[in-house]
Amino acid sequence: MDMDKAGVIKFRHCGKHIYCFFVPEYCPVCRESLSSRTRRLEEAPVSIPNPFINGHKVTSSFLVKPTKGTFLRNMHSFTVPLCVWGFLPGVVYNYNEAGVCRDEHGWEQSVSIPLVQPDMYSLINQWDRYLEQFSSTDMWDPQRYEEHEHNCYTYALTFINCLLATQGKRQLTKSDFTEKFVLPRTRRASRYITLYQEISHKSFYIVDSSQREEDSYV
Ligand SMILES: [Zn+2]
Repeated sequence: MDMDKAGVIKFRHCGKHIYCFFVPEYCPVCRESLSSRTRRLEEAPVSIPNPFINGHKVTSSFLVKPTKGTFLRNMHSFTVPLCVWGFLPGVVYNYNEAGVCRDEHGWEQSVSIPLVQPDMYSLINQWDRYLEQFSSTDMWDPQRYEEHEHNCYTYALTFINCLLATQGKRQLTKSDFTEKFVLPRTRRASRYITLYQEISHKSFYIVDSSQREEDSYV
């Protein structure tokens, strides 16, 4: 399944939210024609943003991907894996039992958590240097790696806290960071995958439009 190929869209009809890859000729629920001539404005399709990005094409972000394979196969295994990006375009910095890795591929389907406001020029300019300096300390030697206590998550969070310290901002605890930044994005990614799989199997995913938006996968 290739999530880059087809985007998910949503339209409303006969009291339902209908998710699909393209607008069908007839409504799958009431069989009425859906031609653009007869369609009302509120029934116009909207596209659902794909939460996955190519991690080699973003800067100054924190990336999450499963330890092995892709999100589609390993959706539930990604509490730990993650990374900080920096440096030359396309290089993802991350930490594992081999020490700091500078990956040039493998992050093509990641969830990105932007860390820097677009107007923070000085931080953006310094980011690559900070990240390289930070990654070169012996704190991230391979022998110090420990699966639960000193892992890729520790690496990324420590880096973020160093950046916050340079700006005189409060440090984030592991649970602050997870709750505030990581979980909202990964939940959205998880809902998108469920939606995508449903549509792939059944062509449509249909919910009552009275259902709350967050339950209806957007
Ligand atoms: Zn209908």
